Amino acid sequence: MIIVLKPTVTDEQVTEISNILQSRGLGVHLSRGVETTIIGAIGALDEEKAELAGQLGTLAYVDRVVPISKPYKVVARAFRPEGTTISVRGVEIGGRRVCVMAGPCTIESEEMLLSTARFVRDQGATILRGGAFKPSTSPYSFQGMGEEGLKLLSAARDETGLPVITEVMDPRDVELVCRYADILQIGTRNMTNFTLLREVGQSRTPVMLKRGWASTIEEWLQAAEYIASRGNYQIILCERGIRTFETYTRNTFDLNAVPAIKELSHLPLIADPAHGTGRWSLVSAVARGAVAAGADGIMVEVHPTPQAALKDGAQSLTFPTFSKLMEGLRPVAEAVGRDC
Ligand code: PEP
Ligand code: MN
Repeated sequence: MIIVLKPTVTDEQVTEISNILQSRGLGVHLSRGVETTIIGAIGALDEEKAELAGQLGTLAYVDRVVPISKPYKVVARAFRPEGTTISVRGVEIGGRRVCVMAGPCTIESEEMLLSTARFVRDQGATILRGGAFKPSTSPYSFQGMGEEGLKLLSAARDETGLPVITEVMDPRDVELVCRYADILQIGTRNMTNFTLLREVGQSRTPVMLKRGWASTIEEWLQAAEYIASRGNYQIILCERGIRTFETYTRNTFDLNAVPAIKELSHLPLIADPAHGTGRWSLVSAVARGAVAAGADGIMVEVHPTPQAALKDGAQSLTFPTFSKLMEGLRPVAEAVGRDC
């Protein structure tokens, strides 16, 4: 259940109610907004909810107690109605500015990473992406540079000032990846790897959780809840397309998910039209559509020579096509009251 406290609530009272809930064996999640303080109390049995709600309602500083019937609670919109903004080295995700994450699918060499990083930064990207541990459907395709790649990524951050995001695939690598990355990416293939979700939930590094390609919105939000339930509230959701019967595109970018997530959750949402389409010629239009529908940002793949890319060349933008994307995105962002 969600307990909305009165604006005048003091720190002592927040501690008092947290202690009451904890003494009943409930998990306590605190959200302190500018105006409202909300407590998520997790784990109450159905039969004790009404009695507990009545008891809490007698506390003078409790405004109201709202039951949440959804299977996800801490990531539900009701927990933080004003929405969440995540700040990574001064770059906001979920704020007014549309966040552009760009870079190669896979880190291939220092030279290609640095030239791409410099270019995307100069064009207005605010976060650098690059895979060092690459999930592959085929065991024979390139699996990434591993820690060597992470070192290149953090060197690129030092040079360009761009915070970096990279994928972590294995719970045993979370500590290692946290040493280099500003945001941990959980890929589509790992959305239901609950051991990994719990592990990144223990860390205090922001996490971007991609939607599983065959997962419903509700399953995706429950995966996010796994992370939040361990105390890491810095979660960004990423719609990257789902599998449908369509074969012209690699996946079907689910535009519905953009406003649906905004309705259901307070978490920021990034659109990935690269994996969502699999075709570079469609990326820019789908990026514009996602921002128009309310996405807080986009993630795209950029490569100096996509025809020679080790991975995902077909959906990677060249430097000139990335510039064009940025040019086309700005008026759309402005039209929906944002900038980029
Ligand atoms: C990626 O971002 O390069 C990637 C592997 O994404 P996904 O997990 O969405 O396939
Ligand atoms: Mn990719």
